[in-house]
Amino acid sequence: MMIIPPEKIAFDFDGVVANTFRSFINIARSHYEIEINYKDITRYQIGEVLDIDPEIIEEIVEILTNYPHEIDLIPNQGAVGVLERISSITSLLFVTARPFGDPVKLWLKKHFSDGISESVEVVATGNNTEKLPVLKARGIDYFIEDRIDTCFLLSKEGITPIVYEQPWNRKKHPFHVVKNWEDIASLIQW
Ligand SMILES: [Mg+2]
Repeated sequence: MMIIPPEKIAFDFDGVVANTFRSFINIARSHYEIEINYKDITRYQIGEVLDIDPEIIEEIVEILTNYPHEIDLIPNQGAVGVLERISSITSLLFVTARPFGDPVKLWLKKHFSDGISESVEVVATGNNTEKLPVLKARGIDYFIEDRIDTCFLLSKEGITPIVYEQPWNRKKHPFHVVKNWEDIASLIQW
């Protein structure tokens, strides 16, 4: 049984804290009249599984990257409650492969109660491989992530990845899986 001290865990943002791919689907529908089923996103790189113009994908990703706080990007169910509870014990660390972290901070400010933003750190690495040194430097032992490649990378270097289940990560792997934030809460040493 995995029992995680709250100061030893950190979180990916997209697909874990925020329901980013749902928002992608909504923008595709409202801006481009493209219908996408969530369960059909069986790869992290949407263009590899869905027949959508790469330029459109790029435009949507740009909106999600720059304006997450201005669109209907909602938190995954239960995320806010569990993260606020952790933040009452220790500071929160989000490590994202996004190119910059400020939009994420604005998003957190919008969705979390006042006061939490002081105890939150968002590190934007620009790519997945750079997550490892960030987590190492901060003494993090557990990382919640939805991208399997990153999980393998972290696991090789002694960080325990926990897979946040999504259609794009339902493949064979040796890692612990959580289906929702209730599952995450059950792993924390409160
Ligand atoms: Mg992610």
